[in-house]
Amino acid sequence: MNVHDSEKVAGVLLARGYAPAPTLAEADLLLYNTCSIREKAAQKVFSRLGEFRQAAPGRTIGVLGCLAQQEGEEIFERAPWVSLVCGSASYRRLPDLVAQVEAGGRRVTGLDLDTEDTFETEITRRDNPIRAYLTIIEGCDYACSYCVVPHTRGPERSRASASVLAEARRLAQAGYTEIQLLGQTVNSYRDPSPAGLDFPSLLRAVAATQGIRRVRFTTSHPNDFSREIVAAIDDTPALCDHIHLPVQSGSPRILQAMRRTYTREDYLERISWIRAARRPISVTTDLIVGFPGETDEDFADTLSLLEAVRFDGVFAFTYSPRPNTTAASLPGAIPEEEKARRLAALLEHQRQIQTVRHQSLVGATLEVLVDAHRPARRQWSGRSTSNRIVNFTSPLENLLGEYVQVSIMRAGPNSLIGEQAI
Ligand code: SAH
Ligand code: SF4
Repeated sequence: MNVHDSEKVAGVLLARGYAPAPTLAEADLLLYNTCSIREKAAQKVFSRLGEFRQAAPGRTIGVLGCLAQQEGEEIFERAPWVSLVCGSASYRRLPDLVAQVEAGGRRVTGLDLDTEDTFETEITRRDNPIRAYLTIIEGCDYACSYCVVPHTRGPERSRASASVLAEARRLAQAGYTEIQLLGQTVNSYRDPSPAGLDFPSLLRAVAATQGIRRVRFTTSHPNDFSREIVAAIDDTPALCDHIHLPVQSGSPRILQAMRRTYTREDYLERISWIRAARRPISVTTDLIVGFPGETDEDFADTLSLLEAVRFDGVFAFTYSPRPNTTAASLPGAIPEEEKARRLAALLEHQRQIQTVRHQSLVGATLEVLVDAHRPARRQWSGRSTSNRIVNFTSPLENLLGEYVQVSIMRAGPNSLIGEQAI
């Protein structure tokens, strides 16, 4: 999502006549997009700002994104060489704010969170030639106790379906065949226009765009996950057979403390809907270990959930206390070493599950959209519709952006290896 925000911001600058600078030292204006989901990302920002000042002295610097929203004008105090601070909920105003900076304005801010706007632009400078990102919903109305997003990205707001579908058509005309729909809770989408499409209907409509062969979406919230989403995937080959459904913890007690609004049973019920589909659908998740008060039993519940679901991929993080969140003041902080131990144990457990799941694909033929070439290894790389990384060899050339049938010969925990089936 941050990558795509940067693409849209670059589009705003192009529309104002800017061109990308070849090096930092040659840049007149530097906009730095930041993340504050965990403390580590936030910490990096001030040291990078110091580096920018050295590499491009006297240049105009703006700080964007979640840390900008979180720290606000405090950024000017800690880094007085910054001229602009703007959170993502104010990006609609970015052309104005940049104009103010160009006119010599100092300490220009866009920090209003009280917004109904979405950030859309006709000109987006797309960095990825294979996969096009498309935002359908911004912000978040949930209030997970550990999470900074509702404080940094503002309230949930969906984009009108006609605007989404028009962008999908433009992407197809520009040659894209894969679209990834984006939102913090992408499946909470509610069309604000009279067309009134719900999320499954929007999925079907985007997938019907002429020229689009693959549609992905991320991130789904379990609370808004419905059977209709599974039915849409079952009926529509262009909807990829992969769902990213963050569970965060397997412990009923911790889920409640996290204020995730679903129970372990609710989550497993959604998994059973997915498993009952005619198409095999891969499932990936996010997990947090070491939430305040997480006992050995709670952690064992998370491991048993891994066994119960057998995910195709897991993004796991150690809990990081964030400003303005209720979890930050909960008792029972877990020591960093213990968090790290749990994270390593979880990842090892998951590695074994993934190895077995991937082994079962040896001998299969998968369709791969090629997105990388490693000439030194004479290898191509891409993704299957279920979002598995497939590395393969081929006697052919110029495969970037092509759909290729690959016979899978070997499997590791994180990728599959094969050769082009000709
Ligand atoms: N909207 C998505 C999550 C976005 S944040 C959802 O609800 O699932 C991406 C991931 O970062 C989260 O799924 C969570 O696993 C992790 N995360 C968020 N806040 C965190 C924190 N304070 N400490 C550690 N991990 C966190
Ligand atoms: Fe954060 Fe929860 Fe909203 Fe996801 S649903 S962005 S974790 S508050």
